[in-house]
Amino acid sequence: MAASRTETDASQWEYTTYAPAGEKCSACMKPFKVLERVRRGHMERVSGAPITLYRHLGECPK
Ligand SMILES: [Zn+2]
Repeated sequence: MAASRTETDASQWEYTTYAPAGEKCSACMKPFKVLERVRRGHMERVSGAPITLYRHLGECPK
């Protein structure tokens, strides 16, 4: 693997934040703990508005 940390499975990761209640990780599909630190990003869709994604900080994706 190259040394680059560029993400290829999401269009953009914007910043680190706290997980909103009820959100699940888009990689492992497990719900976040209360106030768990997550990465926030979004994915463009052909139809409809972009969807917001959250992932475990430092865990997903591996
Ligand atoms: Zn996860």
